[in-house]
Amino acid sequence: MSETAFINGRFLPLAQASVSIEDRGFQFGDGVYEVIRTYGGRPFKLEAHLARLQRSSDALDLRQSYAFEQWRDYIDEGLRLASFTEAKIYIQITRGPAPRDHAYPPELEPTIVMTVRELRPLAAAVQTAGVDAMTVDDVRWGRCDIKSINLLPNVLARQQAKQAGVFEAILVKNGEVTEGSVSNVILVENRTLITAPEGTRILSGVTREVVLALARQEGLEVQERYPSKSQLYAASELFLTGTTVEVLPVVRIDGRSIGGGEPGPVTRNLAKRFLEQTG
Ligand code: PMP
Repeated sequence: MSETAFINGRFLPLAQASVSIEDRGFQFGDGVYEVIRTYGGRPFKLEAHLARLQRSSDALDLRQSYAFEQWRDYIDEGLRLASFTEAKIYIQITRGPAPRDHAYPPELEPTIVMTVRELRPLAAAVQTAGVDAMTVDDVRWGRCDIKSINLLPNVLARQQAKQAGVFEAILVKNGEVTEGSVSNVILVENRTLITAPEGTRILSGVTREVVLALARQEGLEVQERYPSKSQLYAASELFLTGTTVEVLPVVRIDGRSIGGGEPGPVTRNLAKRFLEQTG
């Protein structure tokens, strides 16, 4: 088992992988990424992740060199070489190396990078007990739907959460709850789920989509609108969704208990249903 990297069609050990200091990803954050995990050794929702990678690339006029089948073959090869029981696949496409200039020259060769590492899931006890969160001002740009590598506001928000001893920073813009620094946020009021709508102010989470579909199957109502901060505090249940967090209950926010301070029945049921989907 070994951490494996891929650069523009070539596999090599992760420790030996490097790219140019002139790469526009390094110089400008001029690039996009995806994170995919495996269940049972197989990539989960690969089509949805690669479709989002295509959308992100298109939005930045970034050349996406590989078709779906090519990506699937490279990912399979990476998983085979790394041979972890469960893996986390990171893909990054940047505009490539060029002398530093904000405007980019035509015909740049993109830098396409992938890493395959061992997946380290959250401890089962954390999933079961739920986590604390805090609200943080959402100071991000106007195209949060693009999964760009410009993550500075997310980095600072998550660090703030870490320093406060809580798991996630929940972002609030002009009084409206958008999403987490690394997750989507869904609140429960009785048998209704409320979550920010898809659009330019959130990343359309692959997990969010799966969970909302499950919720509808379970006969829950889904309202896609921005909750206010006071609605967040008053929610009967609150949870995060994401590739690495899966369905993760939030039991305290800004020091206030949500519901009874324990994961509620709707969240627990959706978490269970979600895991059934991954098998
Ligand atoms: N929002 C943000 C800001 C994220 O970084 C992530 C994690 N990629 C998500 C939402 C959840 O997306 P997904 O379910 O596709 O992992």
